[in-house]
Amino acid sequence: MRKYKGYIFDMDGVLYRGDTLIPGAVETLEALRRRGSRLVFVSNNSTRSREDYAERIAELGLPIAEEEIIPATYATARYLAERHAEARVFVVGALGLIKELLEAGLRLVAEPERADILVTGSDPAINYQKLSQATALLLAGKPWVTTNLDRLHPAEDRIIPGAGAVVGALQYVTRRAPDVVVGKPSGHIVEQALSKLGLAREECLIVGDIIESDILAGKNAGIDTALVLTGVVGREEVERSEIKPDYVLESITELGE
Ligand SMILES: [Mg+2]
Repeated sequence: MRKYKGYIFDMDGVLYRGDTLIPGAVETLEALRRRGSRLVFVSNNSTRSREDYAERIAELGLPIAEEEIIPATYATARYLAERHAEARVFVVGALGLIKELLEAGLRLVAEPERADILVTGSDPAINYQKLSQATALLLAGKPWVTTNLDRLHPAEDRIIPGAGAVVGALQYVTRRAPDVVVGKPSGHIVEQALSKLGLAREECLIVGDIIESDILAGKNAGIDTALVLTGVVGREEVERSEIKPDYVLESITELGE
């Protein structure tokens, strides 16, 4: 595993779980940096902005800079700024997503009639009115970009619905699927990570704890993959899965040895 020059890390389940650091995570990141490795941190979380993440990372004491973090909120804002910079955007999503879209210079509108494009993510304040507005946009044939399709997210002491709750509701009523998924396992967020690293894909390793998002993202992008068992997946699940990671690690610390 020492052959890799760049690492694309998932965060939750790899570096920490809830508010608890995975033992050895800090030392491993430091060891990789001493070795000259380039690191980037990619998360499908669609409620936190980059700035929100940086605060959390600082609280946990992880040696990670804000510029090294690519949450799905930021990745979605970048995707739109690069391809639909002039579009008027209607958002069903959390404050962290709205912050990133505004920071990228996008125009957000509150009235669906004025919107050119729909953007969805996890929304703790989802309600019937927002669903109705988004439905109108989709039935009018407007493009639909979503941060990700995640069904569930681990919270502190429970499991909560992810962006898939919003996507699923809209998909069911409109019989449309999102036109673009930015987060894992889609390639968009991974391409942003690669361009940040400035390395060829063969020189990089994706490290994550979920097979159908992290590992599949690596497979889709042609990047080697390592699954860590400190998150939600156990060894039995790896054996049952048709998607096989290149490496299975007890924890991130095996990368620093
Ligand atoms: Mg994870």
